[in-house]
Amino acid sequence: MRICRNTSLKPFNSFGLEYMANIMIHVRTEKEAKALFSGEIKWKRPLLILGGGSNLLFTGDFTGTILCPEFGRIRIEEQTKNDVIVSAGAGIKWDTLAEWCVARGFSGIENLSGIPGNTGAVPVQNIGAYGAEAGNSILKVRTISTPDGKVRVFDNEECKFGYRSSIFKTSEKGKYLVTRVYFRLKLKHDPELNYGSLKEEVKKLGNPTLRNVRSAVLNIRYSKLPDPGVIGNAGSFFKNPVVIKATAENLMKDYPGMPVYDDPSGNKKLAAGWLVEQCGWKGKRTGDAGVHEKQALVLVNHGTASGKDILKLSEKIRKSVMDKYGINLENEVEVI
Ligand SMILES: Cc1cc2nc3c(=O)[nH]c(=O)nc-3n(C[C@H](O)[C@H](O)[C@H](O)COP(=O)(O)OP(=O)(O)OC[C@H]3O[C@@H](n4cnc5c(N)ncnc54)[C@H](O)[C@@H]3O)c2cc1C
Repeated sequence: MRICRNTSLKPFNSFGLEYMANIMIHVRTEKEAKALFSGEIKWKRPLLILGGGSNLLFTGDFTGTILCPEFGRIRIEEQTKNDVIVSAGAGIKWDTLAEWCVARGFSGIENLSGIPGNTGAVPVQNIGAYGAEAGNSILKVRTISTPDGKVRVFDNEECKFGYRSSIFKTSEKGKYLVTRVYFRLKLKHDPELNYGSLKEEVKKLGNPTLRNVRSAVLNIRYSKLPDPGVIGNAGSFFKNPVVIKATAENLMKDYPGMPVYDDPSGNKKLAAGWLVEQCGWKGKRTGDAGVHEKQALVLVNHGTASGKDILKLSEKIRKSVMDKYGINLENEVEVI
């Protein structure tokens, strides 16, 4: 266990915001985490579990305790004729795991290639991209309960995966530290290419092999999304709003070009990026807080913006979308 005091959060958040953490505790083993939560070691609340900091917006110094899970190792747990169960520690970079699986011919998470952050946050967020969601491949999630230090394993159903959501983000928020995630992957690749320009991008590379799907996803991502190493951002700032069919139909009458998708819930999903763009925000900036020039859903820090500047900008955007379309945009990024 490594305890650091008065640490800059700049390297720990993808917006690159300059705030300080009072206490940061890095844990490498379940034993260390258990000691922390069973009361053997005293620490100051509130607690924030921090992965790669790629879905967070800090708006000030953090005065409680930040816990950085650094559990490592990727393991093959079990292999049958058709399936393989792979597990990864919460501290493993997500894309390291995605590449590891593609290199071994294990299919299921290749469409999620290139998403920043660590494996521990993956079930929390139920990350998704290019027609895939992590929840469809997660078998179980091993955790430690933060109130008492006990191990609890959640099976897929208990995780209550939804659109960028899970039990760890809703009713049980902050109550469990994810230590290891188990994935059931396929040995036979059945490519999922029905999303946006993925099929065409794969075609440019040849057959739809696992490797080509991963490369195509990475190519599209790099061409569309800003690299947080160059310009601070946390990916999509808002979730795509899900509305009832009647609302979508009414909007389509007024705005015939509006993209509308079927949602698995039976409702309709609208494109938050399109709504923000139609309100004239794409490429706009107020000081160093801005909206990305290629992707209206991504708010960026051009250099010296504060978390409050970015939050203020997001509130203005939300209001303008509400005023024009009557749609409430929900944050995908968590404001701290
Ligand atoms: C350029 C860019 C592109 C992106 N593209 C996508 C995309 O295509 N699809 C997508 O879904 N997301 C995307 N994201 C968002 C982000 O990468 C994901 O949400 C990612 O899973 C966050 O991981 P993290 O480790 O950085 O989590 P953090 O931002 O550190 O934390 C996110 C939440 O998870 C909690 N948490 C983290 N680790 C643990 C743990 N071990 N136990 C319990 N709770 C934990 C935190 O407390 C917090 O509530 C993108 C972000 C960027 C910057």
